[in-house]
Parts: sequence; structure tokens; C-alpha cells
Amino acid sequence: MTMQEDYKIDEKGMPMTEMLYEGKAKQVFATGNPEVIIIHYKDDASAYNGIKRAQIANKGEWNNKISSIIYERLEKEGIKTHFIRRIDDRNQLCKRVKVIPIEVIVRNRAAGSMARRLGLPEGMQPKNTIYEYCYKNDELNDPLINEHHAVALGISTYEELDEIHGITERINCLLTEMFARIGVTLVDFKIEFGRTADGTLVLSDELSPDTCRLWDADTQEKLDKDRFRRDLGRVGEAYNEILSRLSRLD
Ligand code: UDP
Repeated sequence: MTMQEDYKIDEKGMPMTEMLYEGKAKQVFATGNPEVIIIHYKDDASAYNGIKRAQIANKGEWNNKISSIIYERLEKEGIKTHFIRRIDDRNQLCKRVKVIPIEVIVRNRAAGSMARRLGLPEGMQPKNTIYEYCYKNDELNDPLINEHHAVALGISTYEELDEIHGITERINCLLTEMFARIGVTLVDFKIEFGRTADGTLVLSDELSPDTCRLWDADTQEKLDKDRFRRDLGRVGEAYNEILSRLSRLD
């Protein structure tokens, strides 16, 4: 057993080590290696900063598998990430990182909060890709900030934000192309970054229909968390559809 493999998971798929953190959709568990964690995906869904909550059967399994496929592909393309490997239906082995409390949002089309804020029709394609930063802070409702706020708040530096921006542009190109190949338009998405023990900047958290807006390229049908946010029905079917299309990628 390598250090990395030093963990146990019970027959129900729950890690049997100390829980370090519990978020809205995931739990983080320790392993025998202080630099390695297990991320466990739950079926809990939440929206509007936790105001709307529900359980979506199997969502944890779908998001774990979807995020793993995407991370494996990004790693192959040379993007540094926290991902080590998927363990089973609900668990992933990842490098422990110090999270940078910034959500980086990339918008290829207008939707959601930006469409509302700027009075743009959903689906409108702006001339350029739009990048936004939000300060990860539940009490403040993850406010929109710019790089000057981030530096002033002491949560990042101009150099780090430059590096984050460069990696984010590359991730957007790779993901846009990957989803186009399965007939899906990548409308927008949110990513997060952290630093590993040796100081490497890596992509962290998940990439799934919870964190991306994904529309069928032909019908514009929403295949993401907006089905839950907006009570559109067939939420599970949409997540499952994304997983089955991604599984067919060669
Ligand atoms: N997003 C996310 N977590 C958040 C906020 C946003 O994953 O806390 C994702 C969301 O799923 C969408 C994109 O980031 O793909 C842009 O979200 P937006 O700002 O439009 O927020 P919303 O409409 O959800 O309020």
C-alpha cells in the first residue's frame, strides 16, 4: 500500500477516516497522507446560497464521474489540477490544497446573474469572453469583485491573478471544444484554484452540471443545475445525459 492508498471506504461508499470539512454538495475526508484527501460527492442540491435545497438521487455519483472525466482530460492537456484519481462511484482522491477564496466565472454566452445585471437576453453571444471574479464568502453572498478588490482584501496578488487568468483562458478553450464534440454548448462555468503543499497553483473543486451551464447545441435544452434552480423538471435525466455523452468521448 502506498501512502496515497492509505484509506478505507465502507460498504456503503463512505470513507472511514476523519471528516475534515462538509460543504453543500461534498464532504472532505482525511487519508493517511496529510497531502492527500478524499472528496465524497453527496446527492444534496442547493441553490441561491443554500436557500433552495433538495436531494437529487444519484447526483453525487453523476457529478463525481463527470468531474473525473473532465479532470482526466484537462490533466492530459497539461493543466495542473488537484485530481489524483476517481476511487469509486462517489469518491475521488485529490491533493490537499490551500483554497484561494475566489470563484472565477467564465462566460461564453449571457445567462444567469450577468444576464439579469446587464439586461442581456439569455443565450446572447458577446463579442469577447467575459471573465468575472467573486469573493468566496457565504456571509457576503459571494460578491462580484475585480482584481483590485482581491489584492486589497489580501486574498491574491496581481501576479497570481495573471497566472490564474492564463490558465482559465486555456481551460475555457479545452472545455468549449470538449463539450462541442458531444453536442453541448458551454454557456458559462465557475472554477476555483488552490495551492498544493509545494506551492503549485492547481485547478480544484468540481466541474459538473452544478458548476457549468450546458445547453444542447441543437435544441438549446438546458442540461445543468438551472433545471433545479428554475424548477424545470427532469434534473437527474439532464445530469445523466451529460455523463453518458462524456463517456462516449474518445
Ligand atoms: N456558479 C457556481 N457556483 C456559484 C455561483 C455560480 O458554480 O456559487 C456557476 C453557475 O452554475 C454558472 C456560472 O457559475 O454556470 C455563472 O453563474 P451566475 O453568476 O450566472 O449565477 P446564478 O445564475 O447561479 O446566480
